Amino acid sequence: MSEKSANLAIISNNTFEATKAVNLQNYDISSALQTTLEFNELIAIFSSKIAAKIPHSAYIYNNLEFGLEIKSGVFTRHSCNYVLKSEQYELGELKLMRNYRFSDADIQSLEALLCCLIYPLRNATLFHQALKMAHTDPLTQTRNRASFNETINREISLAVRNNKSLSLIFFDIDHFKAVNDSYGHECGDIALKSSAKWIKQSLRDSDIVFRYGGEEFVILLNGTDAGGAALLAERIRSSVECHTIAYGMETLKITASMGVSTLRKDDTLESFVKRADNAMYTAKKSGRNRVVSTK
Ligand code: GH3
Ligand code: MG
Ligand code: MG
Repeated sequence: MSEKSANLAIISNNTFEATKAVNLQNYDISSALQTTLEFNELIAIFSSKIAAKIPHSAYIYNNLEFGLEIKSGVFTRHSCNYVLKSEQYELGELKLMRNYRFSDADIQSLEALLCCLIYPLRNATLFHQALKMAHTDPLTQTRNRASFNETINREISLAVRNNKSLSLIFFDIDHFKAVNDSYGHECGDIALKSSAKWIKQSLRDSDIVFRYGGEEFVILLNGTDAGGAALLAERIRSSVECHTIAYGMETLKITASMGVSTLRKDDTLESFVKRADNAMYTAKKSGRNRVVSTK
């Protein structure tokens, strides 16, 4: 192998078979890798278990599917880089670094050891895909109600502990029943997907959008005070109003009403959500296509 990075796809039935590797390599690594389904722990265990055989000063693991970049150690000049795959599963990319070159013997040992990592990584992938599905609304690809219930408690605790603002926007599409009645349910579904997309386009990475019910979304804004949340809600309202939905030969426009609340010291989960919900109903009663904030 060259002293530059070696690129190799570890693919079962192709480059390597993991079963062979288990026979070849010590049982200790495989059993340690079976103790967790977390990517960061798997990579850290793998790195520490191979350290005696393949000394390295740092590793970087990237996994695009889950948006992960896991790094540790001191980055140095020489590296070897592996794209990890098993059948149809993309399992990420691992890079090891050190300040002297990886010899051919090192590369051979490492490649055999990497096979011990493939199945644990695949199990972690399956586990995290299942977790993601359990928390995602299939139509709009936003988080679902179950995820909202779990997340809001955590966000409230964090906001109180760190003395940070937390705001919530309750979003409800106006006269949505009429969209279904006039254009059909399929068109209603497109309007829901489009609304989710326009909401997401207005948000920062730390903001989280949930499908709360049929045509209702909730947006949680951590580190955002009442003024910031009202501005954001107005930006979302305007985005929905300005877009057009194309459905077959038809085009249609929708609007949405929103209520905004910001966490108070004496709030419970229920009072925090209820205030935004009430504000949204006030927006409906006062003409729709508007944002109402609570003090
Ligand atoms: P308002 O302005 O007062 O909010 O009126 P609205 O018509 O939006 O509210 P209403 O609660 O009367 O109707 C909500 C409609 O949303 C009724 C229901 O059929 C529709 N809906 C709920 N979930 C879905 C879905 O997944 N797909 C589609 N196409 N429609 C849905
Ligand atoms: Mg509604
Ligand atoms: Mg509605």
